[in-house]
Amino acid sequence: MKRHVIAAALSTGLTGTALAEDRMQIFPNGSRPSGKGPEANFTGAVRVDPRFAAPGETALSVGHVTFEPGARSAWHTHPAGQLLIVTSGTGWVQEENGRKRQINPGDTIWTPPGVKHWHGATATTGVSHYAIQNSIDGKNVDWMEKVSDGEYQN
Ligand code: MN
Repeated sequence: MKRHVIAAALSTGLTGTALAEDRMQIFPNGSRPSGKGPEANFTGAVRVDPRFAAPGETALSVGHVTFEPGARSAWHTHPAGQLLIVTSGTGWVQEENGRKRQINPGDTIWTPPGVKHWHGATATTGVSHYAIQNSIDGKNVDWMEKVSDGEYQN
C-alpha cells in the first residue's frame, strides 16, 4: 500500500475497526501431545509429534518423528507418496531392492506413491525428520513387515 493510501485510511478511521474473522489457524507448539511410534509399525524407541492433521479442507498431514539409535519404521508404502525433511541427527533410508542411504539435516527425501521403503536412525545416531503426506480415501500409509536386524545392518 502506498504511503498516501495508508494516510487516507488512517484519517477516515478504516484501520483497526473492522478486522476480518481469522481464517488462518495457528496451532501452538505443545497443543498436540507426543505419541509413541506403535510397536506394530516400528522397531525401537520412536516418538511422533503430530503437527497437522487434515481438517477436512485438505488431505495433508504432517508429523515430526524422532528415532533413537537403532530405531526404524517397518517396511511400508504411501498411497500418495511422502516427503521427509531431516531436522537433526543422522539417519538411513532404503527402498526395496535399493541400497541403504544416509540422510542428514536439511535433506529432503521424496518417496513416490507405492514405493516400498523404510526410514529411521543409524545404528549409532538418532535422527528426527518431518513426515509430510497426503491421504487417499483417508489413508496415508500401508504398513508391511518389520525391517529385520539383518536388513537394517546391511
Ligand atoms: Mn515413509
